[in-house]
Amino acid sequence: MDTAGRPDRRTLLAGGLAGATIMLASCSSTRTEPTAKSLSPEARPTSPATALARLVEGNKRWVSGDLRHPDRDPDRRQFVAQEQEPFGAILSCIDSRVPPELLFDTGLGDLYVMRTGGTAVDPVVTGSVEYGPMTSGTPLVVVLGHQRCGAVKAAYGALQDGKRLPGNLQAIARALRPAYQQAVREGGTDPVETMARAQVELTAKALRTNQDLAPLVAKGSLAVVGAYYSLDTGKVEVLDGAPS
Ligand SMILES: [Zn+2]
Repeated sequence: MDTAGRPDRRTLLAGGLAGATIMLASCSSTRTEPTAKSLSPEARPTSPATALARLVEGNKRWVSGDLRHPDRDPDRRQFVAQEQEPFGAILSCIDSRVPPELLFDTGLGDLYVMRTGGTAVDPVVTGSVEYGPMTSGTPLVVVLGHQRCGAVKAAYGALQDGKRLPGNLQAIARALRPAYQQAVREGGTDPVETMARAQVELTAKALRTNQDLAPLVAKGSLAVVGAYYSLDTGKVEVLDGAPS
């Protein structure tokens, strides 16, 4: 994108809704001439397959402990200060043990990250997930559930007992009801684990097929992947939606 032709902030602010739309787009627009110093070790992935491969490689380093900690220095901070072009959007849990940037060994400006209890979704969260793919061609969305999820466990218990969770926690239980119902249908020895995986699969499917993202998935410019993180091993397992 030609940044020289971009309207200044005052013009945008004076432009009302139209200006806001332009500013939204420019907030995540592509850059044109990165300097050699600021480039990542590898070029930014531009396809769903290469984006997923980048995350898988980073997760292997996380599992083995052979971490690269890419793009976390002042040079990178300066490079992305004006514009960003993340190659992935991760929807994960609030759980303190599941930080996407660490377990995928990524750097500043690599990922959009949304975190909610049990990866519960509402329109605001969905809009946040859609932001990268719809405004700047982010090629990959990952819905990342995890082992021993406290939010899923609490929701499972509340729904099973027909009780409300306190305060706004009830909104999480309500959002996780379809996953609970699927877990009840599937049965199994560990229903909370089954529900956690069901939540990933249902959420990824809903995003993959919604009216905004489905066209991008259909033309191959976006993949929505469901994945599951093991607290024990650090490994991310791809459940579904992997690009071919
Ligand atoms: Zn969790």
